[in-house]
Amino acid sequence: MTVYAQPGQKGSKVTFKSRYEHWIGGQWTKPVKGNYFEDISPVNGKPFCEIARGTAEDIDAALDAAHAAAPAWGKASTTERAAVLNKIADVIDANVEMLAVAETWDNGKPIRETLNADIPLAADHFRYFVAAVRAQDGDFQEMDGDTTAYHYHEPLGVVGQIIPWNFPILMAAWKLAPALSAGNAVVLKPAEQTPASILVLAELIGDILPPGVLNIVNGFGAEAGKPLASSPRIRKIAFTGETTTGRLILQYASANIIPTTLELGGKSPNIFFDDVSQEKDDFYDKAQEGFVLFAFNQGEVCTCPSRALIQKSHYDSFLGDAVERTKKAIQGNPLDTDTQVGAQASNDQLEKILSYIDIGKQEGATLVCGGDRVDLGGDLADGYYVEPAIFEGNNKMRLFQEEIFGPVVAVTSFDDYDDAIQIANDTLYGLGAGVWSRNGNTAYRAGRDIQAGRVWVNNYHAYPAGAAFGGYKSSGIGRENNKLALSHYQQTKNLLVSYSEKPL
Ligand code: NAD
Repeated sequence: MTVYAQPGQKGSKVTFKSRYEHWIGGQWTKPVKGNYFEDISPVNGKPFCEIARGTAEDIDAALDAAHAAAPAWGKASTTERAAVLNKIADVIDANVEMLAVAETWDNGKPIRETLNADIPLAADHFRYFVAAVRAQDGDFQEMDGDTTAYHYHEPLGVVGQIIPWNFPILMAAWKLAPALSAGNAVVLKPAEQTPASILVLAELIGDILPPGVLNIVNGFGAEAGKPLASSPRIRKIAFTGETTTGRLILQYASANIIPTTLELGGKSPNIFFDDVSQEKDDFYDKAQEGFVLFAFNQGEVCTCPSRALIQKSHYDSFLGDAVERTKKAIQGNPLDTDTQVGAQASNDQLEKILSYIDIGKQEGATLVCGGDRVDLGGDLADGYYVEPAIFEGNNKMRLFQEEIFGPVVAVTSFDDYDDAIQIANDTLYGLGAGVWSRNGNTAYRAGRDIQAGRVWVNNYHAYPAGAAFGGYKSSGIGRENNKLALSHYQQTKNLLVSYSEKPL
């Protein structure tokens, strides 16, 4: 067990500045209107730095810088761009602990997650996408003996990206890696709840990129996000956040007829067929672990396995073990490497989760365990901690249909395969899903029948670069994490060339 020192205390791996400006054109830039807002750490509920509060004027300045930088960056060879972006990956890798502490402090997620997943994965996404873009071929087609159609992948130019607070650095990397690899300049707006860790990263990598290729404007959705997404000066908007906000983004983008990719909410089913309980062996243990993952990252994951579907024939015993296991999940100081469940990212989020616990009780779901606010005492007494909650109910309940984005799982039973698939697909969303079965045929068929962009079979919550990620139904448009994402940041140029000297 290691407990990392809190920022501001002796021995801390990270020192936040007391005030962060926007990162525009390769330099820290004060907000035009001169306003700042506080960044609060969910670990202790206290503000720890001030952040520039962006408006349309700051977005315009960032777009000026991006437009100035885009042509040269877009024309750089893929080898040159790869050298720059691989350097970013190296710097991230060399500063994993520092970035992990910054991320944990800003977001509240346990340091074991940020050290082992968020930060290393961020580096790997840069490496993956520069490799993918270097391996990308154009193509050509012979139209007739004298005429050839050549197809080139060209960057879009300047793109806007808006991200949420649940994986600040990783969400930034998911978006920046394909966009920059493909040769675009970016204006990125982080979430107002978690701006600081990305700015710590910007400080580290700022000088590696040519000025203006990456610009970061902070601020609130309506004040900074909307002017970015509505600007006629971007050629694409990429958004990750709530489905309701995604609808607005589509409206803004439609005025300018620009491509839009959306990574939105989810209400992911996690299905446990009864053969899982055939033996109490390692596989059973793994499946139990898969159930408890609803509580990890405090449930603040778009693919949180927030609906558990357990076959009737082993329902009582499987759930009984899962409840015991959930109760043993270690909740505590997010800077302690033993901690498995940390702090919710904001007070608003904490209140939203507690209100859903009430909704669940009111609509007649049975609270099996958890659901209370947790006071860790000492200097963490004001942090935002909720005990992981397990409810039993039915799929028509709001608890099963609405995204809570907290450590709350709604459990129900199913009779047979068809029943499981019907319940799994009875949702507005289609982002993630889990299937647990020892029977390869059942697992494969369920994986294909569930309407979701990512189905984990006998595992859950792995996000390797290379595995395409994105939503069916109201969970989004487009794919990330796989080379497919390059197509969202490129446009196809066709050169139709005649080699004939004959008159037309
Ligand atoms: P949110 O929609 O409230 O905010 C996301 C971002 O959009 C923030 O930067 C915010 O400032 C900005 N924003 C808000 N209103 C805006 C507007 N009118 N115009 C432009 N920008 C605006 O979402 P959140 O609460 O930050 O994040 C949680 C949500 O994100 C959950 O629904 C979760 O499922 C989703 N999410 C999805 C994925 C995925 O890959 N599908 C990944 C992570 C999170």
